[in-house]
Amino acid sequence: MKYAETIIDLVGNTPLVRLNRVKDGVAATVLVKLEYLNPGGSAKDRIATRIIDAAEHDGLLKPGGTIVEPTSGNTGVGLALVAQQRGYRCVFVCPDKVGEDKRNVLMAYGAEVVVTPTAVAPDSPESYYGVSDRLAREIPGAFKPNQYANPNGPLSHYETTGPEIWRDTDGKVTHFVAGVGTGGTITGTGRYLREVSNDRVRIIGADPEGSVFSGGTGRPYLVEGVGEDFWPEAYDPAIPHEIIAVSDADSFAMTRRLALEEGILVGGSSGMAVVAALRAAASLGPDDIVVVLLPDGGRGYLGKIFNDKWLRSYGFSNAPAGHTVADLLA
Ligand code: PMP
Repeated sequence: MKYAETIIDLVGNTPLVRLNRVKDGVAATVLVKLEYLNPGGSAKDRIATRIIDAAEHDGLLKPGGTIVEPTSGNTGVGLALVAQQRGYRCVFVCPDKVGEDKRNVLMAYGAEVVVTPTAVAPDSPESYYGVSDRLAREIPGAFKPNQYANPNGPLSHYETTGPEIWRDTDGKVTHFVAGVGTGGTITGTGRYLREVSNDRVRIIGADPEGSVFSGGTGRPYLVEGVGEDFWPEAYDPAIPHEIIAVSDADSFAMTRRLALEEGILVGGSSGMAVVAALRAAASLGPDDIVVVLLPDGGRGYLGKIFNDKWLRSYGFSNAPAGHTVADLLA
């Protein structure tokens, strides 16, 4: 019989699939790694597992302990999933701008969610950072993973994501592309691939235009999960050889194309990473093998990226041409 002992045993070992239609003449092989096939639906399941293992090992998390983290997204889901299986309580703090659906996912896994006002300064005690710090201090046995600084985030990618890519490409990968948020994915995966290939694999970061990683000041952008207005400790800027900045418009257009043309329903940071990969691959030949990590699925963005009205309200054009009923009838 072939089965997993627990859902946690299914984290990682995500497949690679070749892009075929959105390549627009690029000669290199472009493979995407589908992190939405993790049990919690994103690459963050990997860091959650590693962070909790390490906290148990270091005695920071003891039986009956509580995990407290300011997060509303994928990291919360990963932590909630692993915490539930190991018998820990989870308290997540998120600002009130976070949609109800996202909070409901966390609660469905058994986490508690504390909502804080968005319209306060980040250093205010009412801000979501302030409230999570206080909860971590006041709840007995509380452990705060702090994904932006926890070295186990990048380490999880060094130990799993990197070796998987090397194994599944028979060591033939020539380029690795990933978006940068905490920087954990690119730092850990990139470090492994550089080491194992004697520095042959080229590491390329993708970043929203305006974010600090590509030289911006933190100017707002709409792609979620990537880009920052500060330099996280989980990010080692010496690992990527290059950072490519991508506009929201290009990221969203590619995200829509991936669903429509490749059957790959992913989030906006995945579209962004594919745009960066295809730009990098434009000058490459047929022997090059570019691997792009797609961090999460598109279900969480149906009301935004996949909603023409939402796109138009931000001044982006709607679905790619040829796919509206009006186009079909024209
Ligand atoms: N995309 C999404 C949707 C994310 O949630 C994250 C994590 N913040 C990233 C990309 C970036 O990954 P990392 O934090 O490892 O840089």
